[in-house]
Amino acid sequence: MASRHHGRQIFCRAVTFLLEKLRTQHILQAQSPVAAAGHATQQHPRAYASIHTLNSPCPSGPPAFSFDIDGVLVRGKVVLPEALEAMQKLTTSDGRWRYPVVFMTNGGGVCEERKAQELSTRLGVRVTPEQVILSHTPMRDLVAELAQRPVLVSGRGDVLNVARSYGLQRVLHTRQLGRAMPAATPFSTYPTDSEEVPAATRTVAGPAVELPDPAGAGAGAGGGEGRSAVDRASGSIPLSGFGSERLCPVRDLGLATEAHPIDTVLVMTDPDDWYRDAQLICDVLTGAGVPTRSAAGAAAVGAPHVKLVFSNPDLLWANEFPKNRFGQGAFAHMVLSLFGRLTGGCRPSHVTFYGKPNPQPYRLAERLLLTQAWQLGLPLPEVPPGVLPFSGIYAVGDNPAADVRGANQAGNPWVSVLVRTGVFQGPGTNCDVDTARVAVDDVAAAVDAALHHTRSMHWHSMR
Ligand SMILES: [Mg+2]
Repeated sequence: MASRHHGRQIFCRAVTFLLEKLRTQHILQAQSPVAAAGHATQQHPRAYASIHTLNSPCPSGPPAFSFDIDGVLVRGKVVLPEALEAMQKLTTSDGRWRYPVVFMTNGGGVCEERKAQELSTRLGVRVTPEQVILSHTPMRDLVAELAQRPVLVSGRGDVLNVARSYGLQRVLHTRQLGRAMPAATPFSTYPTDSEEVPAATRTVAGPAVELPDPAGAGAGAGGGEGRSAVDRASGSIPLSGFGSERLCPVRDLGLATEAHPIDTVLVMTDPDDWYRDAQLICDVLTGAGVPTRSAAGAAAVGAPHVKLVFSNPDLLWANEFPKNRFGQGAFAHMVLSLFGRLTGGCRPSHVTFYGKPNPQPYRLAERLLLTQAWQLGLPLPEVPPGVLPFSGIYAVGDNPAADVRGANQAGNPWVSVLVRTGVFQGPGTNCDVDTARVAVDDVAAAVDAALHHTRSMHWHSMR
């Protein structure tokens, strides 16, 4: 009886193998020069290119997935239909994930909880914050060092509150800094009613920060006393033009002054006002944390250099517009170039780039995917220390320089998968410079290819 059952199992596996083989032949046909020239697209709209090598350190393990968002699942406000199809393939009828999945994007400007809600609504699946890696999410690792230090944040969206939610307690936004000294950026505009100023004063205040003396003459009657308090504390040039009665982290808390110079600039997304932020960041860098101080003045007192961190290096990104748009990498080029022109060709002493293709988000993704695998109760094979128990982590992206390069550099078990619905539009089926291990038309085909790859490896591992 047992041997009949065993025979039936072998027969079933043989049939599965033959079916896979037939499918592989179909795939290889789709890679022929004719297909590459586009003639096969009509016949095989979901044809995908080869997985060059099927070596995995853990072929019997489950697959895991990392999806880029812009250009893969959505284009601007439009959800790609293939994204809904891909999500259906990866979830059960009751909405549970079949495999570990993270959404890893070089975008940001919102907290992970809000992005998870947005993805859940748009994709029709339940996405948790633990599945979301935004470009600035790995900056959480900086909190141990920066929690009590003055930090200037740049970027559109809600980055000030995101920075606070990570645990940074003495942050101010370039918008606040610009508003506090309008002559520094005369062509920028500052709304009179800003939501972040009162909130900033509630959370920015730390024990080392000198607050204005509430008993001082004229306290509460305007901005004058507060400004004087900082001037006394710091000895810096007065910051003029802030007429609000509200507290201001620059004026009232003394951030970006000689008493409390900026320690680190975090560019958390591409800013909404490049002129303002490029100007202010250069001011802070050349003044060693004090925008009103000259480079010579900073050197004279031996002020330490400011650290500059960009959350991603993307030169371009894709939205509804027919051509790619400048991303944060373009802003970084602008700031570094301007700094070089101001300083005779120097580069800031400490510049770090986060975001794909850099390693930080990949290491974070591995931790999150492993946690999900345990939570899903997936059977995980025993692996030596340092080896992940996945047959592959399929990193699906549209940007060769970010998604493909990052997955290729991350090493096993990462598998780069390039789609053609975003930044990469050819020529050819794959990118010549950053070549993906799998090149497909869209994200649904990417999931098909990954599941095919998984079945094939499981079959070989059982032989
Ligand atoms: Mg993208």
